[in-house]
Amino acid sequence: MVVILLGPPGVGKGTQAVRLADSVGWEHVSTGDLLRAARRDGTELGQKAQGYMDAGELVPDALILDLVRDHLKGVAPEAGIIFDGFPRTTAQAEKLDGVLQGTRRRVDRVVVFEASDDELVKRLAGRRSCPQCGAVFNVHFTPPENEGKCDRCGAALVHRDDDQPDTVLRRLVVYREQTAPLIEWYGHSDAKVVPVSAEAGVDEVQRSFRKAVGR
Ligand code: AMP
Repeated sequence: MVVILLGPPGVGKGTQAVRLADSVGWEHVSTGDLLRAARRDGTELGQKAQGYMDAGELVPDALILDLVRDHLKGVAPEAGIIFDGFPRTTAQAEKLDGVLQGTRRRVDRVVVFEASDDELVKRLAGRRSCPQCGAVFNVHFTPPENEGKCDRCGAALVHRDDDQPDTVLRRLVVYREQTAPLIEWYGHSDAKVVPVSAEAGVDEVQRSFRKAVGR
């Protein structure tokens, strides 16, 4: 099963994807996490991506596709996959189809998380992320057990630079202009597109998410 998770920044894609992947044993592929790891490791790709990320702009498609292709080499062919934050443009979606065909897979479900702008801005302000394992917390809604520490791996949590207010607004515009058109694009494909309201609490959204992917 290959699932694509679409939705604006701050809607809770990372939180929900990590939870589902952990409980059903699927692979969680977040291009945002892969890029942050590349930056942390100081790779050439990480350095190239830095300026785009800090400005809230999309990293060029060619860099992202290399990253995804490379990452998928380490994923078992039969493993279920949740793509989180990828694809973000129709060009990426077209290329992903080709990459998946090579492993005899195809996109089965596209789950679209929805929430109002007010809710998104509030969530991003309280978001704290684990730079080590990608887990996401929120100081208001889903705080970690020990303040400032990741529940999964114990690393110190951070407030991402691109979660600061100006960049957040730019990321919302970029989502609307470049990524939201994918909802219609996938509507014309064989994949089933399922909208999920992400305004409820984490457990309820997880139930709707699981229903959307038949788990
Ligand atoms: P995210 O953690 O998914 O919110 O991604 C953080 C930032 O990484 C985005 O604002 C983009 O600059 C970059 N990024 C992540 N995934 C992609 C992608 N699929 N295409 C282009 N840029 C991306």
